[in-house]
Amino acid sequence: MASGHTVLMRLVASSYSIAQKAGTIVRRVIAEGDLGIVEKTSATDLQTKADRLVQMSICSSLARKFPKLTIIGEELVVWVDPLDGTKEYTEGLLDNVTVLIGIAYEGKAIAGIINQPYYNYQAGPDAVLGRTIWGVLGLGAFGFQLKEVPAGKHIVTTTRSHSNKLVTDCISAMNPDDVLRVGGAGNKIIQLIEGKASAYVFASPGCKKWDTCAPEVILHAVGGKLTDIHGNALQYNKEVKHMNSAGVLATLRNYDYYASRVPESVKNALVP
Ligand code: AMP
Ligand code: MG
Ligand code: MG
Repeated sequence: MASGHTVLMRLVASSYSIAQKAGTIVRRVIAEGDLGIVEKTSATDLQTKADRLVQMSICSSLARKFPKLTIIGEELVVWVDPLDGTKEYTEGLLDNVTVLIGIAYEGKAIAGIINQPYYNYQAGPDAVLGRTIWGVLGLGAFGFQLKEVPAGKHIVTTTRSHSNKLVTDCISAMNPDDVLRVGGAGNKIIQLIEGKASAYVFASPGCKKWDTCAPEVILHAVGGKLTDIHGNALQYNKEVKHMNSAGVLATLRNYDYYASRVPESVKNALVP
């Protein structure tokens, strides 16, 4: 695995600059004004020109820099979400949007890069737009200031545009002091590590492996925990089903408080 470690660190470094370049594409498409929106499976499952351009950019850059990636592809798998929070992107909620590059080794998420193209966009004209957060299990997570929600406060963050009765039933059972409804899996994990929310609760299918891979690494690297709604770890090997059918439960601290309050009826409705 000596050469494996070298490949991993080269892959993380390249993904950092590839994600930054992706962020500039995300901003350019908005600036040019034609989003080229296509409905994939429904009106809440959208794809824009930015999704398509970033997907192409990330995949061609990775292929150019790592032509042999497929040879070790059995073990090392890269999960890419070119644009997470597309619905919010089309509605101008720009800081909800992230570009996600997650790296898994033997089915376990071990490295993640998150670019947030519109970080700081409400901070005035002089603010530098965008940032890149990255992390490697066992090394740490960088590019942000770790902060916790005040002790004893239960602030749940969840979907803004993909809610249903299971989602709301599960959240009610947790007796939250506050519920935040925002777009993007990457964005919600950023809320956890920056002290804006204490738990990400999504008791529904809909979220995919490319939504959770990079974010879960960042969270795990700082001592948090992300699982499905039953408490099972997520698997990221090449053959795994893309859909996170049994939802997502993630916290920075106090995971057991939330896990112990998921209703049996919700668990029974969500088969892994
Ligand atoms: P959200 O919290 O609604 O932004 O969802 C997080 C990620 O999961 C986004 O990439 C969504 O597109 C995806 N997602 C969640 N629920 C659904 C759904 N019902 N249909 C399609 N995509 C979904
Ligand atoms: Mg997504
Ligand atoms: Mg996406």
